[in-house]
Amino acid sequence: MMIDRQVRKLLFETVAQRVIASADELSDLDRAIGDGDHGINMRRGFEAVLATADELSEKPLGESLKGVGTTLVMKVGGASGPLYGTLFMSLGKSLTDEVSCAQAADAVAAALEAVKARGKSDVGQKTMLDVLFPVLGVLREGGVDIAARLKAAARTAAENTIPMRAIRGRASFLGERSIGHMDPGARSSELIVGAVADVMEGFA
Ligand code: ADP
Ligand code: MG
Repeated sequence: MMIDRQVRKLLFETVAQRVIASADELSDLDRAIGDGDHGINMRRGFEAVLATADELSEKPLGESLKGVGTTLVMKVGGASGPLYGTLFMSLGKSLTDEVSCAQAADAVAAALEAVKARGKSDVGQKTMLDVLFPVLGVLREGGVDIAARLKAAARTAAENTIPMRAIRGRASFLGERSIGHMDPGARSSELIVGAVADVMEGFA
């Protein structure tokens, strides 16, 4: 798939709008097992992305993704800002405008290693990684209906964080009491993946 300027702009705007529209839900999730600011943090970051989407998308995909990452690091704050910032900046290091499914999988794999290193975290700890790794699995499989399968995998994976006990992040302070709630970062990752998949579907 060719990610030209028009597609880049649509991608950044769609992701930003989805996150902004769900800010209250994200803060509610974070209120249950954290400090209730995940939606506010993410909205602040993605409002900045939305405001500069036109400018950001002028640059090639790699550079524009690095710009999104830098914006998120500067604006989101909390634990999630540096982690999402690392994710987007790392994707920007490996992706060029023409992206195959295999290239996307390699880029996401490298980006997730960077997020893991930054967060000293891994799958199974009730974080955004518990959505992003299953999504990587679908990208690795490739094949038909990939957008629909990415969305379904992200949805299921976010739901699968409900019975998990948090081992990283603020929710880990709750120990057993973190069980029974969806992880806010898992939900925001699901929203981001869903938005990207919808844009891809529209251009398939
Ligand atoms: P804070 O916890 O500082 O208030 P946010 O509320 O914005 O930051 O983000 C919380 C989310 O960040 C969690 O739901 C989780 O998904 C993610 N998160 C927190 N710490 C880590 C970590 N070490 N590794 C991966 N993800 C993490
Ligand atoms: Mg929080």
